[in-house]
Amino acid sequence: MGKIRLSKRLTKVSQYVKKSAPLADIGSDHAQLPIYLVQNKQVPKAVAGEVADGPFQISKNEVEKHSLEDKISVRFGDGLAILTPKEEVGTITICGMGGLLIKRILKEGIENKTLKKNTRLILQPNNEEKELREFLQLNNYEIIAEDLVEENEKIYEIIVAESSSKEIHYTDIELTFGPLLLKKKPAIFYKKWEAELKTNQYIIEQLKNTTHKEKLRNTQKQIDQIKKVSS
Ligand code: SAM
Repeated sequence: MGKIRLSKRLTKVSQYVKKSAPLADIGSDHAQLPIYLVQNKQVPKAVAGEVADGPFQISKNEVEKHSLEDKISVRFGDGLAILTPKEEVGTITICGMGGLLIKRILKEGIENKTLKKNTRLILQPNNEEKELREFLQLNNYEIIAEDLVEENEKIYEIIVAESSSKEIHYTDIELTFGPLLLKKKPAIFYKKWEAELKTNQYIIEQLKNTTHKEKLRNTQKQIDQIKKVSS
């Protein structure tokens, strides 16, 4: 089998993976990211974790097809439970899942000691990015890089974080928009938040004569914040 090609989104993710250190890709689906990184000698070995039987079997088949069984260990299990407490990995990638699920996986990793302090996290939540940043802050993870990538007409955030010895504090605006994205504000940042603004304005129209006062207040707050950061 030849070299595999990654989607634009996973290519961006691959660029933040620590070189020359083992990788754990959680929710690996087709094990594309670990196969690509091992094939391109960016990582010496990898673990691909899957909780669903179909994607687990596909990952196993893909790794076998590329003759990488000696370098990529495909494991069945929930989140970071596939790692042993003694196992050291340089990077953990958790991509293409809801932000709250990623948060739950990380929380359990801290509790069962499979998430080590010197492991870099590369997270690509499909939603609830603010809650995920709040969790990182609470657990003293510093966001060291952030990126945005468009795929199938949706713009995704990529958050790269490392454990810090100092206390981490982000403002409410930084938690919502990303502390580093706010500093750089690339063109795609405006595109993402313009679309969010339109969605929120539509929600306000739908809710304005209803009793959903709290939802209205929160949506209006987000509209005000978007207008502030995009001006
Ligand atoms: N990471 C790949 C990507 O970004 O393209 C695949 C994303 S796919 C949409 C999400 C995958 O995560 C699915 O294959 C699903 O079975 C897996 N998954 C969901 N919850 C999980 C968990 N708790 N532990 C491990 N894998 C999980």
